[in-house]
Amino acid sequence: MAKYPELISNFLEFVKINSRSDPQSKSIPSSKRETSFLNMLKERLTAMGLENVHTNPQSAYVFATLPANTDKKVPAVGFISHIDTADFNAENVKPQIVENYDGHSVIPLDKAGEYTLDPKVFPSLKKYQGQTLITTDGTTLLGADDKAGVAEILAAVAYLQANPDIEHGPIKVAFGPDEEIGTGADHFDVKDFGADFAYTVDGGPLGDLNYETFNAAEARVSIKGTDVHPAEAKGVMVNAIQFGMDFHAALPEYDRPEKTSGRQGFYHIYDFQGSVDHTELAYIIRDHDRDRFEARKRLFTGIADQMNKEFGEKRIQVELKDQYYNMGEIISKDPSVVEIAKQAMKNVDVEPHIFPVRGGTDGSKISYMGLPTPNLFAGGENMHGRFEYVSEQTMVKATDVIVEIAKLYTQQ
Ligand SMILES: [Zn+2]
Repeated sequence: MAKYPELISNFLEFVKINSRSDPQSKSIPSSKRETSFLNMLKERLTAMGLENVHTNPQSAYVFATLPANTDKKVPAVGFISHIDTADFNAENVKPQIVENYDGHSVIPLDKAGEYTLDPKVFPSLKKYQGQTLITTDGTTLLGADDKAGVAEILAAVAYLQANPDIEHGPIKVAFGPDEEIGTGADHFDVKDFGADFAYTVDGGPLGDLNYETFNAAEARVSIKGTDVHPAEAKGVMVNAIQFGMDFHAALPEYDRPEKTSGRQGFYHIYDFQGSVDHTELAYIIRDHDRDRFEARKRLFTGIADQMNKEFGEKRIQVELKDQYYNMGEIISKDPSVVEIAKQAMKNVDVEPHIFPVRGGTDGSKISYMGLPTPNLFAGGENMHGRFEYVSEQTMVKATDVIVEIAKLYTQQ
């Protein structure tokens, strides 16, 4: 019998359930689809015999506890996955299974043959020689992000239940909505969750371990123009479109997502709506380093201040809001949570691949609420679209890592 008998069957069942979040919605969760999937998971956790299975009212997260089976004083360790899928068709997901992949063939996705997984385009495929891959049928995403995480956490819990000789402290489970629209963790209830340390199981391929994320802000720039007839415009017209372009041009030319990588931060303009009378620009600002992040924001508002000074009146308004911070600052105060994850990976022959995320995770917010929460690999490749796939063997390893982490906390 497989080590984790329900890992893959659960995963295949979960991906077929549409639980896409809705960026337009203000409700929590953002979609009814998410509520029904969360309720199903709640029933599942209850049927498995977990304790204190409940929906946290402020966040809609489902929380559950696997009680300790030891008298030792062991910290409670939590595992968190999000249940929503990204902004891509999630209707009628039909996972396809490619057994014993040879590591070089092109995998057809849709029937028409329009979409394929080609190792020339996706060299990551070459890593999976001899493994079982789960792909889409080319019409939807897969939803391994993050249903792989959900299935892995459930499989690890079931394994601990089936092997009571493995000593562990309290294991806390959390399944939550709306990670993909960036709001799910805003209402996370650390106290109700009750973990001392936690991990999101939401990373990519084998070995991924992240405890650094961006510092993040969003900004809106509004420019008030003066629209007059072009024939009589001299000295009178203030063209808000022109000043929008000038504002953008004053930002560092190379600090853009398409020109940066690694630890380089950026300003990303993602919307520009303009008329002569009124123009609006929307940005996100990102940097791993907190000081550089603050400096970026100062530069940004400084450009507007300078332009307003030249106008002699306040025509440009900047609305700037911090979104989340680099969890590395919190984790560096007590790196044990990362050390244990590294050790757990090594114990199951997985080489940790540590890198700063060029984005945020739910853990970026949760860590700043007082619960250090790095991110573990769940296995998905090419997330957020039709080329998404996951290897069964990686999912098994991800589950091994969760079990191993539970063990290691008893040995502290
Ligand atoms: Zn995810």
